[in-house]
Amino acid sequence: MTRRLENRYEPVIGLEVHCQLQTRSKAFSPDSAAFGGEPNTHVDPISLGHPGTLPVLNRQMVAYTLRMGLATHCRIAPRSVMARKHYFYPDLPKGYQISQFDQPICTDGFVEIMLEPEGDGEPVVKRIGITRIHMEEDAGKSLHDQDPYHTLLDYNRCGVPLIEIVSEPDLRSAREAYLYVQKIRQIVRYLGICDGNMEEGSLRCDANVSVRPRGQQAFGTKTEIKNMNSFRNVERAIEFEIARQIALLEAGEAVVQETRLWDANRMETRPMRSKEEAHDYRYFPDPDLVDIVVTEAELDEIRAALPEMPEQRRRRYMEDYGLPAYDAGVLTEERGVADYFEAALSALFKRTGGGDTRAQAKAVSNVVMTDVLRVLNERGLDAEALPVDPERLAGLVFLRLEDQISSTGAQDLFAAMLEDDRAPEVIARDRNLLQVSDAGALGPVVDQVLAGNPKQVQQYLEGKESVIGYFIGQVMRSFEGSPDPRLVRRLLQEKLEAARS
Ligand code: ADP
Ligand code: MG
Repeated sequence: MTRRLENRYEPVIGLEVHCQLQTRSKAFSPDSAAFGGEPNTHVDPISLGHPGTLPVLNRQMVAYTLRMGLATHCRIAPRSVMARKHYFYPDLPKGYQISQFDQPICTDGFVEIMLEPEGDGEPVVKRIGITRIHMEEDAGKSLHDQDPYHTLLDYNRCGVPLIEIVSEPDLRSAREAYLYVQKIRQIVRYLGICDGNMEEGSLRCDANVSVRPRGQQAFGTKTEIKNMNSFRNVERAIEFEIARQIALLEAGEAVVQETRLWDANRMETRPMRSKEEAHDYRYFPDPDLVDIVVTEAELDEIRAALPEMPEQRRRRYMEDYGLPAYDAGVLTEERGVADYFEAALSALFKRTGGGDTRAQAKAVSNVVMTDVLRVLNERGLDAEALPVDPERLAGLVFLRLEDQISSTGAQDLFAAMLEDDRAPEVIARDRNLLQVSDAGALGPVVDQVLAGNPKQVQQYLEGKESVIGYFIGQVMRSFEGSPDPRLVRRLLQEKLEAARS
């Protein structure tokens, strides 16, 4: 399809994101909410829905949800209600899911995404409305591909606490939807309430997609896409669906309101159920659970304990340390990396006792953005698990700032420190990475190189000063260890000028 045709339509997208909360126990029962146990080992009579059992609200689920609500600027309901949502499926042993319906705990919030600039302009901040955030319990897992004749059921996930974050239909492209899900992931990870792992299903996303002719006010008919299990697939599936709907409208056909499944192998969406087949969930307030009351005191406590969020951190790095916007953005992307950066920087300040804090911040930023992030990505590690802790990284940056090691020496030293847990000074000495900045030690080597190359000395004296590069190379090679090239150049120049007169 041509760009021009696509440009005549405007996509409208709203997302429903589910996040598994990292509580110890389940939403309404004491069994473990941890991911990945042997099938059917994290179960008890309550999560299995045995008759006569009674749910008890996990207050930690409420606290985590409130963290998210406050971090996304929501209104918090002083009183909200858990409701039963009925449907029949084998992975739902009670026959209903405990969720929230018309009285959710959080409403009317927003998050901000940064749109990539067109050309080399500034990034544009766009606000995406959050309609509501509500709490619910997860269902179990049906395994259709483990046995040729049977569907197997694992109830470990039954009753694991979730939040569902429903966005306003404010997103206007697949890219914006991708950036929005990334932002939600970043926030829940900063808050420490969900690990945000889409591949393992701890963060899941359904996309509502419609298109309308540009300039038209009313929304078009939407479809809902499920089963996108990676961030890239969210973008791809929505892109596919937008193009599919535009092609329908262009052919004079109508978009049918339905739920569609993303098939990552075939890179297409296909129908799952239409509106006529949609469930009637027969919602009603769960009579086994009392209303959820949130007091001002509880909210104040949670607000006070909120971590500094990525946006605030980014601004602080720019204002306090003079870091470029790019550096500040990369460093605050993940809370663990930002914590690492700050720990390394304060360790460095301790060594230097102050001085040019901006130069020091930039020096630490450079190493974190290149060496540290590369190794974290390659090894799939969180910053806390890096073999080079912030204290030792500060030691490396200190050696570099003092010109005791060269920039390539710093890279070699970092690589060595990954395998060797001694202090950077010790490793640098051991591996001959310290720059020799002692003129006394270098002098004889400089003399020796000049004496051994009379032809080049003659050329220099006749005005071809570029041969100094040749001499520097010779000295660096002849010397055991890593001489400071600037010192080598200075010594050579001094001796050659002396020879001239
Ligand atoms: P439903 O009644 O089908 O559940 P809702 O109004 O509750 O629909 O909205 C569900 C999600 O769909 C929300 O994220 C909302 O922003 C989004 N949405 C609603 N209408 C549209 C539309 N016409 N196009 C795209 N997304 C939409
Ligand atoms: Mg709805």
